[in-house]
Amino acid sequence: MKTYDCVVIGGGVVGASIFNKLVRLGKSVALLDKASDVATGASKANSGIVHAGYDPMPNTLKAKLNVEGSELFPKLCRRLNVPIKNCGALVVGDDIEKIRTLYERGKQNGVKKLEILNRDKIKQLVPDISDSISCALYAKISCIVSPYLLTINLCEEGIINGGEVFLEEDIESVKKVKGEFIIKTKKNTFHALNIVNSAGAGYNDIAKILGSEEYEIQFRRGEYFVFSKTANLNVPCTIFPLPTKKGKGVLITPTVDGNFLVGPTSERSKNETVTTDLGLNDIKEKAKNIIPNINFKNAIREFSGIRIICGEDFIIEKSKKVKNVINIAGICSPGLSSAPAIANMVATLLGFNLEEKKNLKRLKEIKLLKDYDEETQNEMIKQNKDYGEIVCKCEKITKGDVINTLNRPLKIRSVDGVKRRTNAGMGICQGGFCFTKVVNLIKDVRNIKYEEVLKENRGSEVAYGNIREVKNEN
Ligand SMILES: Cc1cc2nc3c(=O)[nH]c(=O)nc-3n(C[C@H](O)[C@H](O)[C@H](O)COP(=O)(O)OP(=O)(O)OC[C@H]3O[C@@H](n4cnc5c(N)ncnc54)[C@H](O)[C@@H]3O)c2cc1C
Repeated sequence: MKTYDCVVIGGGVVGASIFNKLVRLGKSVALLDKASDVATGASKANSGIVHAGYDPMPNTLKAKLNVEGSELFPKLCRRLNVPIKNCGALVVGDDIEKIRTLYERGKQNGVKKLEILNRDKIKQLVPDISDSISCALYAKISCIVSPYLLTINLCEEGIINGGEVFLEEDIESVKKVKGEFIIKTKKNTFHALNIVNSAGAGYNDIAKILGSEEYEIQFRRGEYFVFSKTANLNVPCTIFPLPTKKGKGVLITPTVDGNFLVGPTSERSKNETVTTDLGLNDIKEKAKNIIPNINFKNAIREFSGIRIICGEDFIIEKSKKVKNVINIAGICSPGLSSAPAIANMVATLLGFNLEEKKNLKRLKEIKLLKDYDEETQNEMIKQNKDYGEIVCKCEKITKGDVINTLNRPLKIRSVDGVKRRTNAGMGICQGGFCFTKVVNLIKDVRNIKYEEVLKENRGSEVAYGNIREVKNEN
């Protein structure tokens, strides 16, 4: 039985970053997640902003890791072929003292290229800005990124370089025998010298099994509207209101896919990703304080993500109770921005040398048919008729694109997994046209039954009962 140098539990952006880093350091690593794909927790449902780092309080882990992480992002995303855009961010308001305080905090945290803008300059950037806005902090280095493609590609680059990812693993027990952890799941047994608990909302469940430190975790739901790409919203950068105790407030931001996000709310909640009338109405009201002519008829979807909060700062530490366990708890915002720096910190805590292995493999870029010029597209369709068959009309995703995705290193069986990788189902009809087509492709490529195809996780099987298959005569 193989003994891993490390087993990482939890495949959000934090666990995936650690997994990827440790593989690059030449360690044998397994990542275990109970879900049917990586990035199904907070890492799929957030604002997708690589924050510059002016918001966290100085001398906190949040401040340090945010600034270090955001500096690593552009190169990391280039290496992994993950879409990232340096669109900048504005924090807008009518209280110049509060803007100055944020500016000073940013300087103290080591954030580069911060500027205070007057109303004229804000208007030049955002012509539709509310009349009530008189000043802003401009963080030029702020970026937008696809948080789930980042997580997926971190895992897949890890896999092609020798790491292993195991999905749908329910951890039942962990024992330590002669300095080695024996991790039993419902399906497998893993042996490891070190364990990283980066299970996000499931942190305490794993800590209980390990006998390591448990923490009081609070959940705060963030609800959003997604606006269509054709929303005609003149918002070239991320726009935040002034932050409050509850967080960074309701923002308006473009996404790397060309949509816009408006949200999030920030209310104490259960660990439940629902949306509410109260939350959505609150967003409408607050967004209008920034862009008064924003038209919510252009919203095509609502969703929510859960912040996981353990006090004021991130907890990233060696367990004092169980040797060779690293606890990672309370990774709320700016956890996405900090993830690459968290990975470096964890590698150091584990006592590993930070020099990367030579001859690491690069992940092959998987482009969609629509990313090529017309001549190449025609040639590709001639070579492979699957590229000539449209699966998602809104996003122009072909059967060939979906099949390529299903053949990537991480073997998934969920419609939402295909959606995160190709955008099929993200357009105006929200999967009305493509859902069953994607289900059929998952079933055929994976060679599984309809009852085994999932919407997202186990329990969301797309079919059950007596299923009669009708052959397509076309
Ligand atoms: C509304 C909202 C907006 C945000 N916006 C931003 C932003 O713009 N920029 C930014 O920097 N940060 C942002 N964040 C924070 C960021 O999203 C999180 O810090 C980050 O995604 C946390 O990643 P994670 O890997 O720790 O957790 P998760 O992504 O939640 O991953 C945890 C993983 O552990 C798995 N797991 C759970 N229990 C178990 C178990 N028992 N066994 C095995 N696996 C288990 C889960 O399936 C999941 O895959 C936002 C967060 C929210 C909620």
